[in-house]
Amino acid sequence: MTDPFALIAGWIHETIVLPLLFRFGLMQWEDTAFMWALFATYGVLQVLINYAICVPAERFAPLIRWKTRESVAMDVVYTLIARIGIFPLVTFFGFYWAQTALNGWLTDHGYIPPTLETIFPALMGMPVLSFFVYAVILDFGEYWRHRFSHTFGWWYGLHALHHAQRQMTFWSDDRNHVLDDTIGYFWFIAIGLLIGVPPMQFPLLVLALRLVESFSHANTRIRFGWLGERLLVSPQFHRAHHGLNAAGRNSCNYGGVFPWWDMIFRTADFRHDVVETGDARAPEALATGSWFAQQWAGMALSWRLLTRKRRRRQTVAAE
Ligand SMILES: [Zn+2]
Ligand SMILES: [Zn+2]
Repeated sequence: MTDPFALIAGWIHETIVLPLLFRFGLMQWEDTAFMWALFATYGVLQVLINYAICVPAERFAPLIRWKTRESVAMDVVYTLIARIGIFPLVTFFGFYWAQTALNGWLTDHGYIPPTLETIFPALMGMPVLSFFVYAVILDFGEYWRHRFSHTFGWWYGLHALHHAQRQMTFWSDDRNHVLDDTIGYFWFIAIGLLIGVPPMQFPLLVLALRLVESFSHANTRIRFGWLGERLLVSPQFHRAHHGLNAAGRNSCNYGGVFPWWDMIFRTADFRHDVVETGDARAPEALATGSWFAQQWAGMALSWRLLTRKRRRRQTVAAE
């Protein structure tokens, strides 16, 4: 597959970056500069595509009209850090490096790693179908990661940062604790390696899956219809997951892209009456604090929930 990002990045590199490097005598940085042009192109394109699709939906068919949108600004910061700074690094460099290292190690030990196409030869020569199958398997992994993050107290303490947002918009998709994100990257990459996703398809898969996830956070009345919302996670479906009284273990609709896992494992709820989002029990700093205050509050809540049982045991023993 020709990589569209490499083409655009190549053009930016030749017409903007190289002349600048030459002008200032910095040609020794040429290779590094190209990598950054590639990363930045991918990141900026992700944000632009999300923006082009989600903003009209929020502007022309909003669900809630807020007087002020103060806490949305922080979600924009989260999105720019994640999509432009971290995602490109993780999806291009991290995955490529991990795949080369793993395959090299396996081949050295006389083992040729299987790919989805070698396991299911029917997928051979059908790149669109295998792309879809990769997406379905990765999303299945995401369902369980998300569900576990609601099951274990310490993990929910971190994930509560995502749920604390009362002004939920498509920007809220990237509102996550850095530790929660880190676990998420390892989880996602591990599954990608296990099923043999080709390194150049990986960034495209991330782009496609995260686009649906961003849209599912949008503040919009747009509905997918009875069938549509059973095929793809809709804004109403994910809103029920973010419902004020559905935080923590009582939540539903953990699916990121396909609602099928929730339907199969009986966690689906196709309510349409959920409007208010947030986590009523989360500390206020998680909702409206600065970036550092939110990160710190997430760590503190995680620690409190981790040691909750131990503290309870100590109290019982003391009585
Ligand atoms: Zn959640
Ligand atoms: Zn969410």
